[in-house]
Parts: sequence; structure tokens; C-alpha cells
Amino acid sequence: MTDAFQAERDAELAEAARKLFAGPIAFLKSAPGLQFLPGADVPEVAFAGRSNVGKSSLLNALTNRHGLARTSNTPGRTQELNFFDVGEPLRLRFVDMPGYGFAEAPKDVVRKWRHLVNDYLRGRATLKRALVLVDSRHGLKDVDRDVMTMLDQAAVSYRLVLTKSDKVKASELEAVRAATSAEARRHPAAHPDIIATSSEKGGGIAELRTAIFESIL
Ligand code: GDP
Repeated sequence: MTDAFQAERDAELAEAARKLFAGPIAFLKSAPGLQFLPGADVPEVAFAGRSNVGKSSLLNALTNRHGLARTSNTPGRTQELNFFDVGEPLRLRFVDMPGYGFAEAPKDVVRKWRHLVNDYLRGRATLKRALVLVDSRHGLKDVDRDVMTMLDQAAVSYRLVLTKSDKVKASELEAVRAATSAEARRHPAAHPDIIATSSEKGGGIAELRTAIFESIL
């Protein structure tokens, strides 16, 4: 492909992605267990991350809406998968996975989380991509590595997305991006390139929209 052709294709993809996210998006349902999942008839993209990583803010920024995803961080309360319908006609479903890694989580809550998430990841043919969100200030933690291993074992292709990039200096962001990318390369199902985002300032949001759009083509 020539550079000019590639640039044109990239611009077309970015515009199609922008349009998709500017269109109708609606909360569909919460599933506290597998028996409550919606029909597996639409491509899904799942969002995972430690509690407080900025997942709700990122979902809201991607869709340019306030309050689509609740910014509630009550540990143990959000042990459910939340589904959102994207596009009219329906093109895609977002799956907001319960946050993990909160310090004071009781053991049975953690166990319940693992079961729900693992069952979903292993049984969902329509799950095209997972996005694992990582705070730019902290980089990967062991709980993130556990989730990456779960995704590797379930053979779900995933991307690491840095959040709150506005909270660190450019040099720190590049260091955390390089370290995160180096780890991603050691995981079979991980995409090696990292997308850095700021829900507050908008950095990386268009790039992430395009990456999501590409994953369902
Ligand atoms: P969640 O628990 O993963 O859904 O995290 P939230 O979206 O509720 O965000 C947790 C906190 O981080 C909130 O106080 C947000 O305002 C803040 N936050 C989220 N994204 C950003 C960002 O891009 N930049 C900054 N500066 N703060 C952010």
C-alpha cells in the first residue's frame, strides 16, 4: 500500500469511527450472571480495569456523553457486566466489566468477579476485543497481569490503554508506555502498541475510537 493510499484509508476509518460514536448509544442491560447475557448476535468490545482507573470516564469520553457509564466505585456493588448498544442500526456492544483490585475487597467478592469474568471471556464467540485500562501514573500492577493472563488463556485479543495521561509529564508517559508495551509483547493475546488517553483533555480518544471500530470490521 502506498503512503497516500494508507493515509486516505486511515482518514476514512477515523471518520467512520467518529460517526459511529456520535450516533445512538444506549444502556441495554446488566448481567450479574451468565444466564442474563444478551443474545450473542452483535460484536462486543469489553472494557476492564482496576477500580478508579477511569473506565466510566473513558466510556463517557468515547461516546461524548455524560453519565452513560456510572462513575460509581462502591466495592462489591458492581459485580455485573453492563451492556451498551452502539449504532443505529446496531453495530457493536460495549461491555463494561466490573472494576477489580480494590484493596479491601472481601475474598468472596474477588472469587465471584473471577467466575463471572472468566465464564464470560471463555464462552463468548462475539467478543472481538478487550481493552485493559491502566492508570498512566501507576503502570501495570499484578492484578492487571492476572487479567492479562486470563485473557491470554481465553484467547481473547486485547489492547492495553493508558488512562489519565494528562496527569503525568510527557517524559513519564513515554516511559510508562514503553514499559507497558514491553510487557504486552510477552503476552500472546496482547496488541503490542499502547494507546494513551485522557478523558479530561481528549488526548487519544479519536485514536481509540478508530482502534475499536477496526476491531469489529
Ligand atoms: P472507574 O472507577 O474506573 O469508572 O473510574 P472513574 O471514571 O470514576 O474515574 C476515577 C477518578 O479519576 C474520577 O475522579 C475521575 O474524575 C478521574 N479521571 C478519570 N479519567 C481522568 C482523566 O483522563 N484525567 C484526569 N485528570 N482525571 C480522570
